Amino acid sequence: MRIIIFGPPGAGKGTQANLISEEFNIPHLSTGEIFRSAIKNETPLGKEVKAILDAGDLVPDEKVVGLVKEELKDDKYNGGYILDGFPRTVPQAKAFDDLLDEKGKTLDAFLQLEVPEQELIDRILSRGEGRSDDSPEKVKNRLSVYHKETEPVLKYYKKQDVVKTIDGVGSIKEIFNRIKDTLNSK
Ligand code: AMP
Repeated sequence: MRIIIFGPPGAGKGTQANLISEEFNIPHLSTGEIFRSAIKNETPLGKEVKAILDAGDLVPDEKVVGLVKEELKDDKYNGGYILDGFPRTVPQAKAFDDLLDEKGKTLDAFLQLEVPEQELIDRILSRGEGRSDDSPEKVKNRLSVYHKETEPVLKYYKKQDVVKTIDGVGSIKEIFNRIKDTLNSK
């Protein structure tokens, strides 16, 4: 199964992607995690993207697309995967579509987590993960980047009839049950 989990910052994409990964036995690919780990390990990639992540801006499309393409070459992704944080712009979505086409594969589901804006802000500011981009002013920028650059990705996938909208308000378990029901009823 190939799945994209989509939603604004604070929607719970990472948490739900981990649960989906366990339940359906598919690897979880988070571009944000790749960047955070590169920064932590002070790799060349980490040095290149640190200021971008700190500001809550987006890493350039070519960089992210190149990275995802490379990563997906690993055999562990042959049986499917869940993408979290990618694609985040329409050009990334197009590049990903081309990649699937080249491999003769299709996307099974685009899960859109829907959460009201005030709840997103409250969640991020109280989650205490120690992320350098979780301060009030960075969160404001991340939300504005989301509306401007990332929301159009939803419209793009709506044309493909793969979008499943999930109510992202409730306990982690409640939300996960909704996701499971949606994926199992496909
Ligand atoms: P996330 O963990 O998905 O919230 O991502 C954290 C940060 O990593 C974002 O605010 C961006 O700076 C960067 N990032 C992650 N994924 C992407 C992507 N697909 N395109 C551009 N930047 C990304």
